[in-house]
Amino acid sequence: MESVTRNFFLFLSKSSLLNHIARNWGSAVASKKIIGGKDFESAIPVIKRLNDQGMAVTVDHLGEFVTKAEIANERTTECIQTIQRIAEAGLNSHVSLKMTSLGLDIDDDLVYHNMKRILDTAEKHRIMVTIDMEDEQRCQKTLDIFKEMKSQYEYVSTVLQAYLYRTEKDLDDLNELQPFLRLVKGAYKESAEVAYPNKKDVDLNYQKLIEKQLLSGNYTAIATHDDQMIEFTKNIVKKHNIQTSQFEFQMLYGMRSETQQALVKEGYQMRVYTPYGREWYGYYMRRLAERPANIAFALKGMTRK
Ligand SMILES: Cc1cc2nc3c(=O)[nH]c(=O)nc-3n(C[C@H](O)[C@H](O)[C@H](O)COP(=O)(O)OP(=O)(O)OC[C@H]3O[C@@H](n4cnc5c(N)ncnc54)[C@H](O)[C@@H]3O)c2cc1C
Repeated sequence: MESVTRNFFLFLSKSSLLNHIARNWGSAVASKKIIGGKDFESAIPVIKRLNDQGMAVTVDHLGEFVTKAEIANERTTECIQTIQRIAEAGLNSHVSLKMTSLGLDIDDDLVYHNMKRILDTAEKHRIMVTIDMEDEQRCQKTLDIFKEMKSQYEYVSTVLQAYLYRTEKDLDDLNELQPFLRLVKGAYKESAEVAYPNKKDVDLNYQKLIEKQLLSGNYTAIATHDDQMIEFTKNIVKKHNIQTSQFEFQMLYGMRSETQQALVKEGYQMRVYTPYGREWYGYYMRRLAERPANIAFALKGMTRK
């Protein structure tokens, strides 16, 4: 039953018609509980509040699978402005973005050019830009862009997904670049040809990757809401005497807020992924797919302003 629900929401997440309707429907329905604001300015108070609570942030301007160069260029400009605003306002925030929002599905030159424009600004302000990982079909291209950018810029990082069979090898290949990596389980619908179909195997691979990346000495972001993975990380860092400055936990805005604060109180670094913007639909559907309990949470959000 759980996998039927998951597949249903992942199927819905790709509907451009529903995305269009949702965009015009407004953010009241999208539940302010998991989106920072309709634009960056309206997300600033949320970021400040999280910063005041001892948490760092990474902001994500929602929007993906862009098919027009004009829109990809607009997204790039918006991202540059966001980096400038983070610096001006003295916010403790990174930026996360998706390659399909910068033109990955349109033209290679376009996406490389847009990414360089963003990283020129990020480098100037010393603000990290993390390339989110999208579906498996786009994984190789995304890693190629990351490698190319990492050879030229310092403030760039990316994400690896534990559900893909290929990921351990990707982690090994990236090691020589000494990358800042966010490790996640993976949020897209993938076939058993490329991804572990069973949750148990994903969890085991996730633990393997966390341990490997931490022991390599590279900076590691453990992005999960799963207590077992958090406990696993705590045990590994204790066992190997790894400093808290070498890793951070990451969670999504609006998810497990009490746990986020508890981790800060325990002395761990915590970063909250805070999306903003009107293109909330795909993000929202993936969250519903991950956890059926989020459905009840979402329905409550629809009836409350
Ligand atoms: C900061 C961040 C960035 C991400 N970036 C990407 C990315 O770039 N690409 C990508 O593919 N995926 C990304 N993801 C999503 C990720 O891949 C997973 O789909 C998502 O985090 C769900 O997996 P999980 O490890 O949190 O826990 P799951 O495996 O979904 O759940 C395990 C257990 O954790 C607990 N749990 C989970 N969620 C909650 C909750 N909301 N409230 C209470 N308990 C909960 C439950 O006990 C559950 O049984 C990101 C996730 C985070 C947190």
